[in-house]
Amino acid sequence: MFLSKYNKKRDFEQTQEPTAKIGKSENELIFVVQKHAASHLHYDFRLELNGVLLSWAVPKGPSMNPEIKRLAIMVEDHPYSYKDFEGNIPKGNYGAGNVIVWDNGTYLPADSTASPEKTLKEHLDKGHLSFILKGKKLKGEFSLVKLKGKQENAWLLIKKNDKFATDVDILLKNKSVISKSTLEDLEKKAESKTSIL
Ligand code: MN
Repeated sequence: MFLSKYNKKRDFEQTQEPTAKIGKSENELIFVVQKHAASHLHYDFRLELNGVLLSWAVPKGPSMNPEIKRLAIMVEDHPYSYKDFEGNIPKGNYGAGNVIVWDNGTYLPADSTASPEKTLKEHLDKGHLSFILKGKKLKGEFSLVKLKGKQENAWLLIKKNDKFATDVDILLKNKSVISKSTLEDLEKKAESKTSIL
């Protein structure tokens, strides 16, 4: 069933995360990176494809340095509307903790093609995606490469050496591109709410 893994993990009476609906950008495909303080801090890297967001959890976060390969664990597809989700997933729920939209923008396959989604799907099935991000923080070409014979769902996220490559740590930019909040800001907000109650 459509997004059934996503649905199974969540109780929508408890979490404010969006329910599973198909969605689509009108023009260019979108990507989003969420910074998520769950039991272990990680970055969720999501690419729109065929009405859903393909999703990878990147424990150390993306890097703009082509020499640094970051482990990316493929997780369940998320609904398109998850791209705007920012806030708190309450205790006791799957992925409990705060989430900010760390980066977003549009993306396209690295090889120009008449049907981007078809090309991306083919490359996804082959375990090697190359794409160009046009984000506020992440820019230029990246690859996601599936590891062979290792842990299932293990991929590597790698920056290609292009004019956007740098060894400056992009993760130092720690604010939401939507609200300008940091995860620490959300934490403080949650604490002050608890103390009022
Ligand atoms: Mn997550």
